[in-house]
Amino acid sequence: MYWAQIYILPKNVLQEITKVCRAFLWSDLAYSSKPSNVAWHNTCSSKQTGGLGFRDVMLWNTASMGKYVWALTTKQDNVWVKWVTSVYLKNGEWWGYQPVKQARLQTTAKLAKIGISTSASCLICGQGDEIHDHLFFRCTYSNMCLVEMKKWMGLQCGNKLQYIFRDISHSRRSKFRKQVVFAAVVALVYLIWRCRNTSYWERTVPTVSSTISSMKQVVKSIIQAVLPKNVSRSDSQWFLAL
Ligand SMILES: [Zn+2]
Repeated sequence: MYWAQIYILPKNVLQEITKVCRAFLWSDLAYSSKPSNVAWHNTCSSKQTGGLGFRDVMLWNTASMGKYVWALTTKQDNVWVKWVTSVYLKNGEWWGYQPVKQARLQTTAKLAKIGISTSASCLICGQGDEIHDHLFFRCTYSNMCLVEMKKWMGLQCGNKLQYIFRDISHSRRSKFRKQVVFAAVVALVYLIWRCRNTSYWERTVPTVSSTISSMKQVVKSIIQAVLPKNVSRSDSQWFLAL
C-alpha cells in the first residue's frame, strides 16, 4: 500500500491485490475461485449507495498521484517540489511538461564526449561511433544478429529499434505471438549489450550464431515459464516448433 501511494503500480499487481481482497471477503481465503455474490465495483461504492465503502485500489492508486500534482501546481514549499520544478519542469508548469526521451546507455561515444573513454568507436565492430542507432542495429554484428532473429520469428520490419517495436505492435499477429516477438527483440538487445561489454572487459565477442542460440534459449525458457493458459492450439504449436 505504501508503494501505491508513490508510484503508479502495474495493472496486474493492482488486479492481484483486488483478487486477494475479494477472495478474503467472500471465502476468508487469500485465493479463491468461488464467484463473488456481489460485483466488486458495487462493494467499492459508498455505504450510502448500498456498497461497503471499500477502496478501489486502481482508482486509489491513480488518485494518490493527484496529491503530487496538487503539490506541484500549488508550488508547495518543500524540497521535493523544488527539485521536480527545477530538474524536470525547468521552472515551467506541470500541465505543459513533456518527458524527455533519454538514451540511457553509457555508450563509448558518450563516454568519449565527456572525456572518460579515449575512443568513440563501436567496441564490437570497430566501425562507426558507438551510438544507440549504431548498436541497434546499424553495427555489422548486431545487424547480422537482427537478420537471424527476423528469420526465426518470420518478421518483416525496419531496422531501427523504435520501428521494430512499432511494426510488431501493428502487425496482424495474435497477442501471444506478439509477446514472443517482443521477448526476442528484448533478449537480442540485452545480448548485444552483453557482447559489447565482454568485448570491453574480456576482449572477446561471441560469434553471431552463438548469440542467436543464446537468444533462442532465453526466449524459449522465459516464455515457457510464463506461458498463459489461454494460448490457442495453433499458437502453442507454433511456439513449440520454434
Ligand atoms: Zn559496431
